[in-house]
Amino acid sequence: MTSNSDCLFCKIVAGDIPADVVYESDTAVAFRDINPQAPTHVLVIPRKHIATLNDIEESDEALVGSLYSAAREIAAAEGIAEAGYRAVMNCNAAAGQTVFHIHLHVLGGRSLKWPPG
Ligand code: 5GP
Ligand code: ZN
Repeated sequence: MTSNSDCLFCKIVAGDIPADVVYESDTAVAFRDINPQAPTHVLVIPRKHIATLNDIEESDEALVGSLYSAAREIAAAEGIAEAGYRAVMNCNAAAGQTVFHIHLHVLGGRSLKWPPG
């Protein structure tokens, strides 16, 4: 699986940096955000290193789909599926992306404002 030795989230996938992992599959790993913005704030990442949404290729479509399947399962397990939650991916600086290994933020457990800031 493609990984990047300088990437924080690749290190979490490899187990070199600890994380509060809540979900694992062949293609994805999910763990609690270190600086949660809601009662539930989980990051869902592919095991494969992909830097930004702009770098997703057609051959990654099933992989990216698996991130949403993970988000659905996590929302159910966290008890936020029916009330509602958000699954969002920031892309590049203007959107606030700070870790350049794609991740879905799964946020819930409170009312979320729209549009986001
Ligand atoms: P971004 O701003 O790139 O969309 O989101 C990156 C997220 O990763 C932030 O919400 C930040 O709190 C989280 N984060 C950064 N470093 C770590 C870490 O070492 N462990 C965990 N669990 N989350 C992290
Ligand atoms: Zn990575």
